[in-house]
Amino acid sequence: MLDQIDSKALDVLQTIFGYPSFRGQQAQIVGQVARGGDALVLMPTGGGKSLCYQIPALLRPGVGVVVSPLIALMQDQVDALAEVGVRAAFLNSTQTFDEAMRTERKVRNGELDLLYVAPERLLTQRCLELLDASKLALFAIDEAHCVSQWGHDFRPEYMKLSVLHERYPDVPRIALTATADPQTRAEIAHRLQLEDAMQFVSSFDRPNIRYQIVEKSNGRKQVLDFIQDEHVGEAGIVYCLSRKKVEETAEFLNAHGVSALPYHAGMDIATRTSNQARFLREDAIVMVATIAFGMGIDKPDVRFVAHLDLPKSIEGYYQETGRAGRDGLPADAWMAYGLQDVVQQRRMIDESEADESFKRVQTGKLDAMLGLCETLNCRRVRLLDYFGQQSDPCGNCDTCLNPPVSFDGTVSVQKLLSAIYRVEQRFGAGHVIDVLRGTDSEKVKQWRHEKLTTFGIGSDISEAEWRAILRQAIALGLVVVDHDAYGSLKLTEEARPVLRGERPVQLRQYQKPVKQKRQAAKP
Ligand code: ADP
Ligand code: ZN
Repeated sequence: MLDQIDSKALDVLQTIFGYPSFRGQQAQIVGQVARGGDALVLMPTGGGKSLCYQIPALLRPGVGVVVSPLIALMQDQVDALAEVGVRAAFLNSTQTFDEAMRTERKVRNGELDLLYVAPERLLTQRCLELLDASKLALFAIDEAHCVSQWGHDFRPEYMKLSVLHERYPDVPRIALTATADPQTRAEIAHRLQLEDAMQFVSSFDRPNIRYQIVEKSNGRKQVLDFIQDEHVGEAGIVYCLSRKKVEETAEFLNAHGVSALPYHAGMDIATRTSNQARFLREDAIVMVATIAFGMGIDKPDVRFVAHLDLPKSIEGYYQETGRAGRDGLPADAWMAYGLQDVVQQRRMIDESEADESFKRVQTGKLDAMLGLCETLNCRRVRLLDYFGQQSDPCGNCDTCLNPPVSFDGTVSVQKLLSAIYRVEQRFGAGHVIDVLRGTDSEKVKQWRHEKLTTFGIGSDISEAEWRAILRQAIALGLVVVDHDAYGSLKLTEEARPVLRGERPVQLRQYQKPVKQKRQAAKP
């Protein structure tokens, strides 16, 4: 039996937001906050966190105050709410004084359901006095992991948000985040004085998605084979890094009988919108897209998501692959990954305008993504572990179904490192591999590198294998690519113990992916 609050919540969900039913733990969370209780919500991106505070804000008298660091998204959120008739506004540094005044007046007069505020703004005397004079439905603290000093997104102002509890002890609070390991969760509860709040932790697992990461040789041919072998006549998304590659890949797939459409931010809006509409409406369109595609797309029967380029982070990978199999039926997350991906992503970080601390964070995220690609263990265990969730090997990823062979690669890596050292860390991958394999190239002759002791010491290993070894050495942080010096390979401090024989290196031997018949979809 639903009580009155529950049935009102369902009514708001259906009549205002137009959704038939709550997802996951939404109903319980909405109920908790609508009744005036506190909540700490951990839910994956796309899980539906917004409704968890939007609906209680509508059910309770007064304005719901949403604290969010994402100033750039506030306008969109407010517009989307306006479209369904919810009275929302924001206060942040992008608006004029007049605009802010108008919003403040509405808050004071009780004319708003939701108010989005940046944390630094909320903490001003002016804003706190405004709240003192207004009826408050609740506080929602979005991206609550920003309170964690050890996290990637630390915001000092978040620490001061405990003032909300001290100043407005009777107003319910809900803190929400998509990324929080158990320590961060405890830190959020502690710093925001939410120790007594009810915790709602959603699982990040998507058991029907099969994860697979293959060695890239000819990416678009590989993705074509993958589609022809396993997904004929089904809807899917192929993600590429650049607009040019999106267009080329879509053309290539079309030329080979796959109905593919391109999508990227550089296309004119009419074509983009019509491509998206066809993808949603028709059964078997493959959308080839940059990551600009997918936000807010809710197509339940996407049977696969393929990546032809490495995502920047596990969060991105999780979000993009999460668009597959929303209907719960078997779906594939497939990726082709190679040396060039590692080099390219590292370069993008190096060459970005961002400050050092931001670059460090990006590097950390990329390293975690590389760790997922290179892992010898279950992909899902690794993925969920990143989000702080422990699990057992899944039996539904490539490494579980077809365990990779690992080998002691110490000697090979030592050879690679010495070759880089002997050519004085002034040459790129191609030349270093030529030296290792003893290839008589023009460059070798020009630099008399056939005289080096390392010349030809790796002739028993193919060029492709050397590339795989180099890729892993880069992923492991033993070697860096110096983009200021034409992509020359350089050794890091970490390389020393390996060269000295103090640190063994386990490498992953890539196998040709074995095709698996998907189990029949359960009705
Ligand atoms: P999050 O903030 O957790 O990333 P959002 O609140 O933006 O997620 O919701 C993600 C998407 O899911 C949105 O398009 C939203 O409209 C949709 N959504 C949320 N809850 C429901 C529901 N109960 N039924 C259908 N769609 C929903
Ligand atoms: Zn697994």
